[in-house]
Amino acid sequence: AKTAGGGVSLYDEVIDADARVKARLLADLTDLFNAPERLESELVVHYQPQLEAGTGRVVGVEALVRWQHPDLGLIPPLDFLPVVEEHGLMADLTFYVLRRASIEARSWGEAGRRLRISVNLSASTLAHPHLLTFVEAALAMSRLEVGRLVLEVTETTLMSDPDRALELTRVLTERGVQLSIDDYGTGYSSLSYLTDLPASELKLDQAFTRRVRDEPRTAAIVAATVALAHRLGLRVVAEGVEDPATLALLGRLGADESQGYLHSRPLPAAELAAWLARREDDARREEVTEDGAT
Ligand code: C2E
Ligand code: MG
Ligand code: MG
Ligand code: MG
Repeated sequence: AKTAGGGVSLYDEVIDADARVKARLLADLTDLFNAPERLESELVVHYQPQLEAGTGRVVGVEALVRWQHPDLGLIPPLDFLPVVEEHGLMADLTFYVLRRASIEARSWGEAGRRLRISVNLSASTLAHPHLLTFVEAALAMSRLEVGRLVLEVTETTLMSDPDRALELTRVLTERGVQLSIDDYGTGYSSLSYLTDLPASELKLDQAFTRRVRDEPRTAAIVAATVALAHRLGLRVVAEGVEDPATLALLGRLGADESQGYLHSRPLPAAELAAWLARREDDARREEVTEDGAT
């Protein structure tokens, strides 16, 4: 629409720019999925460690996709996943991430690091008729132990088709794959639904982590959620932990594990390996010092 003066409003310009960027991304994405070697170099997977409360031991990593675009630089997932979804490429992307992350996790296992690997599933992927085949193929291809694979599904995704989600997650967990409820606390799942869901893990949404220190009511909700999760046999991972005081408080409130910038940003595979090696060295040095002191 034209403004009164006949010019194009700033709003329209922003929308046009947005539409242009989207059209460009869409064209590039279609090319990308038609060229396997470009896929490998441009769709990169970063890994963010998850640490056990108390011990600080690294027990798992979450796989997070990024697009290393040749002209536009590193594009975060929330900027291009909607285009992937709109264009019906989400299942392809997920299978790619699943396969790549499983192969990577298997190689860490061979280096003595038997970490869990968590992969995010969108609603369309959870509903995909070939999801189980994808998972089986990734496990077979990577020879990853099935118990180390975790699939993260948001509460909102689960609730978009609760019956189907329940059925699928039962099949997956009977196969030995672990299920994690991501961004918990932002959606509207009922308690009875959670009781039926065969999940192993609940990820407390970052919104709680950000507010828990300043808001006693948020701390009360976190404590109650942890207690409920534990009664249902779920471990609780706190997301988005950025400072030591929040980490300590979440530990006191019973969270089993934490993930966030305080420990590490999501890292490319090689950098994660170096990060892990540094921590292992530090731990060994500490042991030596303790032995020396006694
Ligand atoms: P998510 O699964 O909830 O992932 C956590 C997000 O929080 C990640 O953002 C991570 O980088 C960010 N984060 C971690 N620690 C901190 C922290 O201490 N502070 C703050 N402010 N943020 C932190 P990212 O990588 O941009 O991913 C955003 C979302 O995109 C993910 O949310 C997930 O829903 C989706 N996503 C990422 N990779 C994939 C994928 O391979 N498949 C699908 N379907 N979705 C994905
Ligand atoms: Mg996640
Ligand atoms: Mg999350
Ligand atoms: Mg999220």
